[in-house]
Amino acid sequence: MNAPQPLTTAGPCPDDAWLNRFAALGPAFHTELPPSGLPDPHWVARSAACAEQLGWADDWWQQDGTLAVLAGNALWPGMRPVATVYSGHQFGAWAGQLGDGRAHLLGELQTADGRSFEIQLKGAGLTPYSRMGDGRAVLRSSTREFLCSEAMAALCIPTTRALAIAGSALPVRRETIESAAVVARTAPSFMRFGHFEHFAHSDQHEALRELADFFIATQAPECLDAPQPVVALLERVARQTAELLAQWQAVGFCHGVMNTDNMSMLGLTLDYGPFGFLDGFDPGHICNHTDRQGRYAYARQPNVAFWNLHALAQALLPLMPGEREAAGEQLLGALEVYRQAFPDALLARMRAKLGLSLPQDEDRALVDDWLRLLAAHRVDYTIANRRLARHASDGGALRDLFLDRPGFDAWFERYQARLAAEPRPAQEREAAMLASNPAVVLRNHLAEGAIRRAQAGDFSEVQRLLAVLQRPFDEPALASDAGFPPDWAQHLEVSCSS
Ligand code: AMP
Ligand code: MG
Repeated sequence: MNAPQPLTTAGPCPDDAWLNRFAALGPAFHTELPPSGLPDPHWVARSAACAEQLGWADDWWQQDGTLAVLAGNALWPGMRPVATVYSGHQFGAWAGQLGDGRAHLLGELQTADGRSFEIQLKGAGLTPYSRMGDGRAVLRSSTREFLCSEAMAALCIPTTRALAIAGSALPVRRETIESAAVVARTAPSFMRFGHFEHFAHSDQHEALRELADFFIATQAPECLDAPQPVVALLERVARQTAELLAQWQAVGFCHGVMNTDNMSMLGLTLDYGPFGFLDGFDPGHICNHTDRQGRYAYARQPNVAFWNLHALAQALLPLMPGEREAAGEQLLGALEVYRQAFPDALLARMRAKLGLSLPQDEDRALVDDWLRLLAAHRVDYTIANRRLARHASDGGALRDLFLDRPGFDAWFERYQARLAAEPRPAQEREAAMLASNPAVVLRNHLAEGAIRRAQAGDFSEVQRLLAVLQRPFDEPALASDAGFPPDWAQHLEVSCSS
């Protein structure tokens, strides 16, 4: 593949908008190298909402060179592309060095309103960290990542964003031959737990210190005011991860590959692979076909996050002053933040879903019993919660979901009694519940429908589905977008292959 062409025009942002602070860190942290683009690229999809966040004008995608840059074929002046090095624990075992095997951080952009976003291409060729991989991503997995990133953002769940997908006829070998694509993603920082683990496990403590100082200065400056900034940093990550996991559990999202290299230091949903949203409520649901043991099953995610935070704490230990044992105790103390924050955050989310605005002691049991009822007959999680939101106007539709009518009636009676203690008028509550219980989530069959058409050269369904997912709390024009999964969807298998 040819080297990307340096452009003389700046594209949708001025030349001096590029900060590139991670690139400036030096060669211990990354390898500077240009992306390897796609031959004869075309647009597959674009997110206007993501571009707006960058402060780009509406015609950003029509500007000179935008497609070439986002396909990896050109660079705007001021960009300084790097692939970063990290390590991590995969499926509970130390995996050693990993790194951006198919990601290029093109640069860090400062917006006019003073925020900064890294722009990363996924699938733009080999890097020194590609190991056995080919540095590419296929249209199928790129479409899933693109749609889910933007869907999560619209659900107000912390996530990396997706700006666009560039496609190409370039063949890529997976289980079958597929076509290549590049996703352009953005986040304030793509730093992972694994970045810290890398320098701790390889005994590069100076570099570890530099990385922590860098992250705190650029992303978590409030930690500098704490007596022990490293402890404050861990508490911050623990708190944000607790909030993230509460949101995943409440919406019924399974990540699928919660390895420490896929855990964001900003508590963002990161690296969309074999993710899935629950259809029928099943706490043991495993969305990743490759995860035979169910390490990352839905109900296990909160504990896995806690385990991953321990791995991060371990990586931060060399930065602590004083005696090792006492330092370890201090870091373990910081992890307690997660243990307290997660159940509270989850209960707050579930209260909102049930329309309970005035906390009461009985709420936890009421929520647990609701979930037990759903689990007993694998009732569709999204549809049941949505119908619960509408129960005042259409209680029959809710009751119809349950085979165990007496079981449902008993719970519903308790719920009605509980609502009697609520100060909010019913109409106001219903509006709030409809804003807490999405009508549409990115179920596998919805993504699959868009992918099949995209693979046949018709990208309109990707763009249509994006528009629906960007308004997840509205009733969609096509009722099937909010409906039960079709029978054929039960046989969809989603694996790590991407
Ligand atoms: P994942 O679990 O998909 O987030 O990826 C784990 C590691 O494998 C990361 O270091 C990725 O960069 C790398 N990787 C995955 N797929 C590829 C690929 N096709 N080419 C190069 N590296 C890859
Ligand atoms: Mg990853």
